[in-house]
Order: sequence, then structure tokens, then C-alpha cells
Amino acid sequence: MKALQYREIGAAPEVVTVPDPEPGPGQVLLKVTAAGVCHSDIAVMSWPAEGFPYPLPLTLGHEGVGTVAALGAGVTGVREGDAVAVYGPWGCGSCAKCAQGKENYCLRAGELGINPPGLGAPGSMAEYLLVDDARHLVPLGGLDPVAAVPLTDAGLTPYHAIKRSLPKLVPGSTAVVIGTGGLGHVAIQLLRALSPARVVALDVSAEKLELAKKVGAHEVVLSDARASAAVRELTGGVGAEAVFDFVGAAPTVASAGAMAAVEGDVTIVGIGGGTLPVGFGHLAFEVSVSAPYWGSRGELDEVLALARSGAVSVHTETYSLDDAPLAYERLHDGKINGRAVILP
Ligand code: NAD
Ligand code: ZN
Ligand code: ZN
Repeated sequence: MKALQYREIGAAPEVVTVPDPEPGPGQVLLKVTAAGVCHSDIAVMSWPAEGFPYPLPLTLGHEGVGTVAALGAGVTGVREGDAVAVYGPWGCGSCAKCAQGKENYCLRAGELGINPPGLGAPGSMAEYLLVDDARHLVPLGGLDPVAAVPLTDAGLTPYHAIKRSLPKLVPGSTAVVIGTGGLGHVAIQLLRALSPARVVALDVSAEKLELAKKVGAHEVVLSDARASAAVRELTGGVGAEAVFDFVGAAPTVASAGAMAAVEGDVTIVGIGGGTLPVGFGHLAFEVSVSAPYWGSRGELDEVLALARSGAVSVHTETYSLDDAPLAYERLHDGKINGRAVILP
């Protein structure tokens, strides 16, 4: 089959032919119908050889949707032909976190060498994907594969982040979304669907801010050194009760901290390497800062349900597997508005 692989440190990913996978005991083989392109893959492909955490070559793609093509021995719960989404943050399935469906925080994944597809294990940017267990599959329930695939990460990750802050997003409150790309433009819609907060979106690109308005932001602000002052002005000096940073670079986390209200939340989702000092004099009183990772299996069910209700719709552009390297190039250059989806 064809697969998009990251083969050599620092080189662009390539479309290659690899053997068709076959499901072993307990595994499920999917015919991939759609695979999403995430900025985290670009981060992975920028890491140096020293300490690179995954074996190469690596088939990319940690957002995946497909049709069940074959079942390994002993698999129950899914049938050939079922349309499913892949829950990507695979864990051991039995530790205290996994028992709660929070496989994203599996306590034993590191020790057992368990990696998500596309982030260590072979990913979804291929004609077929091996899924290690049927519990990592969620029925699509009639959703279109292209519309649904970004929800497995670009939907699930902001959903998990936002859900934690909902008690603070009361009527009259303000939520800020920094970086209105793949994750951020879904975050705006989730905030609108789940809370009465006023939503302020920040980005460096006018085109992205246009999309932010289209998907429901009440206000848009250019993300520059003045951004935190602008948010303070918009909120009568109070600041934002919740700030979600989908860039996570040094200047954006600094802005995020500076615009957070007393008792507010700053949630750093982007992996841009920025850090935020916490301590008296650095932030408003009792601001909570966190850096969450992906979401739980139950939360993926909830995101898909929200999409079925029509409350969330991802802005997508599609590419063939042969053109997948171009999609990464365009994402790297900031030219994707919404999410790029590969059709293997
Ligand atoms: P994307 O490229 O689609 O979106 C990033 C957006 O940020 C773009 O719209 C870009 O114009 C904007 N931007 C860049 N610099 C900015 C700045 N200084 N101020 C404001 N906006 C700026 O990326 P994505 O796929 O949505 O991923 C976003 C981030 O989240 C990445 O760092 C990615 O690695 C990370 N991520 C984290 C998790 C997690 O579990 N924590 C999961 C998925 C993605
Ligand atoms: Zn991702
Ligand atoms: Zn576990």
C-alpha cells in the first residue's frame, strides 16, 4: 500500500510503498477514508536526531477515520464495514487513568512502549491503518469522514481544554483563543456551543481572523505586543476568565498570562516552547496555568455528538495521498485556513 512517511531527520515526508498490514490477535484493520494534518507533525519533523523519540521511518497521521476492513482473532464490538473514528492517544487500557477513559494520561504507556498512531506507531496517512484494540474506535454515526476526522484531535484537544474552564465561563465572562488555525477555529465554535462567554480570537493573519469571525468569534484582535492591552480594554480592565493558547510560543504565552483575569485560567495547548512564570507579581491573583494533552475517549464521543447536532463544523481542504507533502508545506507556510485532510 501507499503511505506518507517521515524517513530521515530534517527531510520532507515522502509517499512510499510499504507492505499491507495484517491484523494480529485483538487488532482491527481499517481502510482509511480520511486523515488529518496537524501542526504537531511539523514540530516532530523539526526535532533533532539526538533524543528523537520514535523509530524511523514513521508513517504520519494521528487523526484517522476509516471503515473496518478486517478483524484479528478475538475482536468483538466492531464489524467489517463499520465507519469509525480512531481515538488516538492509546494507553494500556487498565491503569487508573485508562480505567477512566483518560488513555491520554496513561500511567504506563511510556514503560510499555505504547505510542499513538502517527506519533510512534504507524499512522493514518496510508491506505490501511492497524488499530491495536477495538476500544480505540468510536462509531462515526453518520458523520462525513472529511468533516469528522479533524474532530479526533483538532476537536478533541480544545474540547478537553475548554471543558475544564466551563465553570468560569459564566454570563458576562470572556474567553480568548490565541491562534485560530486547525485547533483554534474549532475552539471558537466549541466555546460558542458550550458557554455564554464572549469569545475574542487572536491571530497574526487577517485571513485566519476572517475565518475566526465566520465561525463565531465576537471580536478579533491582531496578535502582537499590544494584544493583552487590547483584551484588557475590551473587558473594561478585567481581563479574560479563560485564555486558550493554541500557539504556545514565548510571546503568546506572555500575552496569555498578561490578559488573564483574577482567578482566571491560562491553558497552553500549542507546543511552541514558551513557558509562563507563576508567582506573585507575575500573574493576576489565583490564575491557574496548565498544559493539557489531547482528551479522553468519552470526550471524543461528546465532540462527535456535538458535530452531529450541527454545532461544530470544521473548515477543511482536501488532498490526495500523493499531494500530502504539499499539504504539510502549506501548513508550515501558514497557508492552510482550517484543517487539511488527506484522502488516501
Ligand atoms: P495551525 O498551524 O493550524 O494553527 C496555528 C495558528 O496560529 C495559525 O492560524 C497561525 O496563523 C497562528 N499563529 C502563529 N503565530 C501566532 C502568534 N504569534 N499569535 C497568534 N497566532 C499565531 O496549528 P494546529 O494544528 O491548530 O496546532 C496548534 C498548536 O497546538 C500546535 O503547536 C500543535 O503542535 C499543538 N497541538 C497540541 C495538542 C495537545 O494535545 N496539547 C494537540 C494538537 C496540537
Ligand atoms: Zn495533533
Ligand atoms: Zn494506562
